[in-house]
Amino acid sequence: MEKRIINFNPGPAALPLPVLEQIRDEFLNYKGTGMSIIETSHRSREFENVLNDAIERTKRLLGLGEDFHVLFIQGGASLQFCMIPMNLAIEGRPVDYINTGTWSTKAIKEAEIQKKDVRVIASSEDENFSYIPKNFTVDEDASYLHFTSNNTIKGTQWSKFPEAGDVPLVCDMSSDIMSRPFNPEPFGLIYAGAQKNIGPSGSALVIIRKDMLERVPKDLPTMLKYTTYVDKNSLFNTPACFVIYVISLVLKWLEESIGGLEQMEKINREKAKLIYDYIDSTEFYRGTARKDSRSMMNITFRLPSEEIEKRFVEEALKEGLGGLKGHRSVGGCRASIYNAIGVDEVKTLVEFMAEFERRAG
Ligand SMILES: *Cc1c(COP(=O)(O)O)cnc(C)c1O
Repeated sequence: MEKRIINFNPGPAALPLPVLEQIRDEFLNYKGTGMSIIETSHRSREFENVLNDAIERTKRLLGLGEDFHVLFIQGGASLQFCMIPMNLAIEGRPVDYINTGTWSTKAIKEAEIQKKDVRVIASSEDENFSYIPKNFTVDEDASYLHFTSNNTIKGTQWSKFPEAGDVPLVCDMSSDIMSRPFNPEPFGLIYAGAQKNIGPSGSALVIIRKDMLERVPKDLPTMLKYTTYVDKNSLFNTPACFVIYVISLVLKWLEESIGGLEQMEKINREKAKLIYDYIDSTEFYRGTARKDSRSMMNITFRLPSEEIEKRFVEEALKEGLGGLKGHRSVGGCRASIYNAIGVDEVKTLVEFMAEFERRAG
């Protein structure tokens, strides 16, 4: 393929073109150092500036007060499934989870492996995770309440976060971090694998409220406790330098070109509405998530048959629209429209959907 495609991949996913261009332009000689940023010591002033820039931008964009630490931890979101119960479960108090799909299920499993007192206080498994549960009560004795803000595979998203009183919320925001503003105060910990909305794969962004650190057991292995990353500003060992560098550029783009998260949310809403409105206007495409639970990031839909779905994905790619195949566990189609995908690119997809329907419908 000569040209770049419009990239609807679920993750690793599209990054803003100006960011890729900047990476290319300064790749061989970073800011006059005579070397690439990926050849530079993680203890150098250049890299520490990059790291601190990524941290400061995260704090500004999310409106985090002094009571939060921003960390970068390798092992992706999946290592956080394990580190959270290990570090944050309080002896004698249960850990509560809401199960809204594949990723929540994996998070629950990691707490169970560690023999924590796991309670699943709500689940949408009864309807193939097609909705976000509404009616549940949070017990005040829980160590924390874990949920997944956006379900990348099933295409559902919390529009309003659960309320848990004094129980700290712990949230996997891998696929919608930085897509909209929210109040960070109720959160004890927020984590996100970088490769959906903020950078390449290789690191998780972890935001931890300072009072959570008192819970971290002293006898945990060094690399598995949050206090190590806090004490050393994520530089206990060599971090994912390239990933953090790209994250800093993506966040700069978000702040300076987009204008922050309120603006980003507006654009994301407009994009999602274009596709959902089209889906709702025809019988040919069928959204799989319940309307009140639809994701603004991952739009899951079916066509009349698997045969037609296969053709849709193939013909879309010929037209320069990539990554529209649904997750292997659920089939169908999925358009992941993370921050880096623009309104015009979504319009091109909707035009293709209409044109394909005329031919195949
Ligand atoms: C992709 C994804 C994960 C897995 O992330 P890794 O970084 O590959 O471990 C976890 N949770 C959600 C919501 C995801 O979208």
